Amino acid sequence: MTNPYPDVLLHIGGTWRPAAAGETMNIENPVDQSVLGQLAHARIADLEQAVDSAARAFPAWKASSPFDRFKLLRRAADLLRERADRIATLMTLEQGKPRAEARLEVLAGADIIDWFAEEARRSYGRIVPARLPGVEQLVLKEAIGPVAAFTPWNFPINQAVRKISGALAAGCSIVIKGPEETPGSPAELVRAFVDAGLPEGVLNLVYGTPAVISEFLIPHPAIRKISFTGSTQVGKQLAALAGLHMKPATMELGGHAPVIVARDADVEHAARTMVAAKFRNAGQICVAPTRFLVEEPIFEHFVDVFSRTTADIVVGNGLDDSTSMGPLANARRVVAMEEFTADATEKGAQLVAGGARVGNAGNFFEPTILSHVPTDARAMNEEPFGPLALINAVDSLDAALEEANRLDYGLAAYGFTRSAANSAKMEAGITSGMISINHYGLALPEVPFGGIKDSGNGTEGGADALDAYLNTKFISRNHATR
Ligand code: NAD
Repeated sequence: MTNPYPDVLLHIGGTWRPAAAGETMNIENPVDQSVLGQLAHARIADLEQAVDSAARAFPAWKASSPFDRFKLLRRAADLLRERADRIATLMTLEQGKPRAEARLEVLAGADIIDWFAEEARRSYGRIVPARLPGVEQLVLKEAIGPVAAFTPWNFPINQAVRKISGALAAGCSIVIKGPEETPGSPAELVRAFVDAGLPEGVLNLVYGTPAVISEFLIPHPAIRKISFTGSTQVGKQLAALAGLHMKPATMELGGHAPVIVARDADVEHAARTMVAAKFRNAGQICVAPTRFLVEEPIFEHFVDVFSRTTADIVVGNGLDDSTSMGPLANARRVVAMEEFTADATEKGAQLVAGGARVGNAGNFFEPTILSHVPTDARAMNEEPFGPLALINAVDSLDAALEEANRLDYGLAAYGFTRSAANSAKMEAGITSGMISINHYGLALPEVPFGGIKDSGNGTEGGADALDAYLNTKFISRNHATR
């Protein structure tokens, strides 16, 4: 039988190849920590070649017509769709999420490529009326230059596809550091672009030691733009390094999403919608709902429906069709869940459900619900990034808004209410990059995706996303003297 998980190589200068020094690292299956395969580990010599390739490929790619880039990106999206089943299996093996979720991620990735393909054709400039006769003033959009991008393991395709598609659509070349723990599916994403006919050197994929790669790529003179998705702590370091070298940096960082459930909300709908959102990808999502702030009169009802719905979740191997929540992607997250739960209960929180590992092998952890969680519990302040729901009662909408805005995070927030006035109050009152009222309505290709405050800056979705990869160039032309 052929191995469903082939070893993963680097892609540099149009060639799939091992690291120059032949080094590799293990790729583990989170279901049982067995070794799935080997990943090529890039060192400085490989990185130099990757940047050199991106720099050499940039002028011709920048000069290519947006229409040609559109056609190529559309081909890549179609290839990704054709290969979705196989790529989803790779993703489940390396990351743990159920196959159905993995498949949706691949297909959503194809939709994101399509969106950026279309946006490439709309990278318009404008004409500014001049003060003098014979003068023309043009504002042009130009590809910013070779990009260095860094993406994490929670959405191996969806974090990478936003950066790759944005850069390529704008006319930029790119060196992307993929996630070392889940490298197979993003390598297949890169393969879709390569097989669609992307010129060599335009897209380069490396894996290795994250800090070594970022410290080499970010200051490198050929690199003109940085884009990172990951933790706030690392993001701040990389943004500081980018700032030191005067390079614009898009940062998609952590979150700690509040969910305000007003007393007039449809409680059943709110609880069911939020259980699905909370435990998708085992809670390892930057926009995962985390702090539930439920008005007192409906608190018991909400906790009851939330815990009964959570009890239906089937934890298991993502390759089994009956599984609705897989293992956590790495052993670090299991330790983190144990520590968050112990700390919260020691400080007085009530354990409503879960709270423990499942089995002796793999990174399985129960869907966990804590209520009456004190504000000084670690989980109320640090991003849990796992299957942990924290449900507290609040005595008013104002109290809920105050708690929602207490943290320095500002990525996603959710609200449930039947009243337009309460909805307006939440929309205006929550300090957050994205707010979804009465449903889970985030992350479509055509809408903005990004945070504020410690959750980062910039958007990786919607009509503004291409701008991150474009310079504005102003030209003033005087015809009168010709
Ligand atoms: P981590 O902080 O070690 O790593 C987070 C990501 O950043 C990883 O992809 C890692 O490869 C990368 N990274 C780390 N150091 C780097 C460096 N010096 N240069 C370049 N890249 C670097 O944490 P982790 O244990 O992998 O993940 C845990 C935390 O990360 C979570 O609690 C969550 O806050 C955050 N996270 C956020 C997202 C997101 O979508 N915003 C995704 C994954 C992880």
